[in-house]
Amino acid sequence: MTIRLRYFLSSVLCLTIVTVNAQTAPRTGDAKLTEYWDPAVRIISPGKTNAEAPSDAIVLFDGKDASKWKSQKDDGPVKWQVADGAMTVVKGTGGIVTKEGFGDCQLHIEWRTPAEVKGEGQGRGNSGIFFMGKYELQVLDNYNNRTYSNGQAASIYKQTPPLVNASRGPGEWQTYDIIFTAPIFAEDGSVKSPARITVFHNGVLVQNNTTIWGGTQYIGTPLYEKHGAKEPIILQDHGDPVSFRNIWIRPL
Ligand code: MG
Repeated sequence: MTIRLRYFLSSVLCLTIVTVNAQTAPRTGDAKLTEYWDPAVRIISPGKTNAEAPSDAIVLFDGKDASKWKSQKDDGPVKWQVADGAMTVVKGTGGIVTKEGFGDCQLHIEWRTPAEVKGEGQGRGNSGIFFMGKYELQVLDNYNNRTYSNGQAASIYKQTPPLVNASRGPGEWQTYDIIFTAPIFAEDGSVKSPARITVFHNGVLVQNNTTIWGGTQYIGTPLYEKHGAKEPIILQDHGDPVSFRNIWIRPL
């Protein structure tokens, strides 16, 4: 490259940068040019702790009232045990489903695996949270309990393991704080953008804007099938008496 050509190209580059900056915001003059006031950011009241529902959340379960849920088996009332401020899986009664559908959301949920340790691997304190009824965030007692990495607590089941195992012990309450982004489908059913998920397990980042590769499959690879923009959340009955409490959601 000749010196002249190099000079020409660098001049063009400089000019371009200056022009772009000039168009976006001058670096001198009125600082107000880079402020915008509308729309104003909505004011809400946060809870007193990070676990407490903020004022704009939908409380899905407050420890007593399970009426925002129905039985997956027959659409009737929840058949799980509601006692002592928690909802506990009753083996064989089936999962429970929110009556309302949700797409993009922030979900807070607390769960506890049985204090009495029974079984091993996937057979110990197994449940799960199925976003849109299809994409499972695993719930499992993974305290001193090895299983396949992409099937342990806080994994996107059979897809992506958590970044770390932040599990508390059996019988202890644990938290998930989740940001879920729903998939978008084209008219023909193809995926325009896949679902994404960020998860904090007991306050620790374990899924960082993870792509979900399709609906959870026990056997075979994940599979996307076109569905609505809002679908209910399901909590799984995997036969273990796992408890849930303090469930709230903020549709985004
Ligand atoms: Mg499960």
